[in-house]
Amino acid sequence: MAQLQPLQVGVMFWTGGELGVEASPDQIVSSVKSLGVSCGQLGLHGTADLGPAAQEAWKEAIAEHNLTVVTVFPAYKGESYADVETVQKTVGFMPPATRQEREKRTYESSDFAKAIGVSGLATHIGYVPEDTSDPDYVAVRDMVRRVCDYCAKNGQTFALETGQEPGAVLKEFIEDVDRPNLRVNFDPANMILYGSGEPLPALELVKDWVETVHCKDGTWPKAKGTLGSEAPLGKGDVGMDRFVAKLKQIGYNGPLTIEREIVGEAQRADIKEAIALLERLRQP
Ligand code: MG
Repeated sequence: MAQLQPLQVGVMFWTGGELGVEASPDQIVSSVKSLGVSCGQLGLHGTADLGPAAQEAWKEAIAEHNLTVVTVFPAYKGESYADVETVQKTVGFMPPATRQEREKRTYESSDFAKAIGVSGLATHIGYVPEDTSDPDYVAVRDMVRRVCDYCAKNGQTFALETGQEPGAVLKEFIEDVDRPNLRVNFDPANMILYGSGEPLPALELVKDWVETVHCKDGTWPKAKGTLGSEAPLGKGDVGMDRFVAKLKQIGYNGPLTIEREIVGEAQRADIKEAIALLERLRQP
């Protein structure tokens, strides 16, 4: 995979993705490349095949189309982002009932990433309780330590997707986990969508751990317990110019990965506009 330029614009895409779960890795990667980008993050649906044949097909597709996959991003069976309570009950490492199977799936995702030549893994671990004596806090912190150690053996970083908790809580959690390969995938829109606080001060707090970012936009929740609404890049409350300026200020040089969580032609149209916006903002 090619060396990236500083702040190279990329796209978050999924196994299946806009083309549906039946699409082959070759079709998906070809579709991503046709947007005009050369790097991205690969999200794994909870039911995506991660076995040897799938590894080979993905490896071939990204080599054939010369796409640099920066991060593999597992999601898990049974997750739903309907509202705050549903996210708390279903997303990431937090739900006790699925914790063990998701830990196993995370290791399989790390092995899959290694097989296709990707040195970063990232995921939403879910809402971490603020009370550090809460049994779920302790269980998830210990699980993140084990996941970090597993990823380290595969030569990988493990990044936490931001958004569900305020920056200060995230920073304390990272310090408590205390693993050298633990990182952050900073998503400014999630901070807004979940009502977790202004993104830029949070970015300042966790800047030493930022490995990758999502360029996504959104508006604040209208009522307690609800989530805000995702918006096309530049049309929400993040302030993409301020966000990119802040990334430059903290010395971030990684890719600018566009995340647009809708599907179909509307997604492609929004991503194309987002690429144009970021190509302008990334200039020195
Ligand atoms: Mg994100």
